[in-house]
Amino acid sequence: MLLSRIAHEDMPPSITLSMVGTETRFSVRRVYCVGRNYVDHIREMKEGDERDPPFFFQKPADSIVQDGEIIPYPPLTNDFQHEIELVAAIGRAGADIALADALDHVSGYAIGIDMTRRDRQRDARERGLPWEIGKSFDHSAPCGPIHPADRTGHIVSGRISLAVNGGERQRGDLAQMIWNVAEIVSNLSQHYALAPGDLIFTGTPAGVGPVVPGDRLTGAIDGLGEINFIIGERGT
Ligand code: MN
Repeated sequence: MLLSRIAHEDMPPSITLSMVGTETRFSVRRVYCVGRNYVDHIREMKEGDERDPPFFFQKPADSIVQDGEIIPYPPLTNDFQHEIELVAAIGRAGADIALADALDHVSGYAIGIDMTRRDRQRDARERGLPWEIGKSFDHSAPCGPIHPADRTGHIVSGRISLAVNGGERQRGDLAQMIWNVAEIVSNLSQHYALAPGDLIFTGTPAGVGPVVPGDRLTGAIDGLGEINFIIGERGT
């Protein structure tokens, strides 16, 4: 088909998140994730050195699932797991950002869940292959609304938790992060030029585990309220 024949309605919509207390929407450019950032989660995964520098991977921008929507159970896994995470939203461009300036580039915060095909991730790790198939798939980045930092202040501590069907599975404190948000932004900006619209999922505390179709997930972070999702049927 000629490119000129693609109808306007066939073009993908831009991905946006609401910004609490404003009429504007946050237009998502890229989704970065920190690989491991809480000691107790590194221990439960039996992974690496706890003092290693942070490492990063990405999810597609259109893997965002809006608060209140259904997260379809993905193909190619029998071990679909939740990782509750604080998400930092970049509002100002920068590369090689100094640690002291890093928080000036963060315009807001959200609650996100780094959904993971754990069996595929473990497979890839054992075979020395990229994590892509375990982490970067359709609907793998549920994320709540952005809370502007000028309303919440910069978030450095407070409870982070996730419940499945009302039963608490994950609980930690943001102060347990090995690399705080400022350190993450400064480090990531050495790898990539950051720009408004970038989101950074900042790692998960211990207690990750599997979900099944019909499960109800509730994520909460002090000062950011809560987010809710339902796990959909396989193949939807
Ligand atoms: Mn994660």
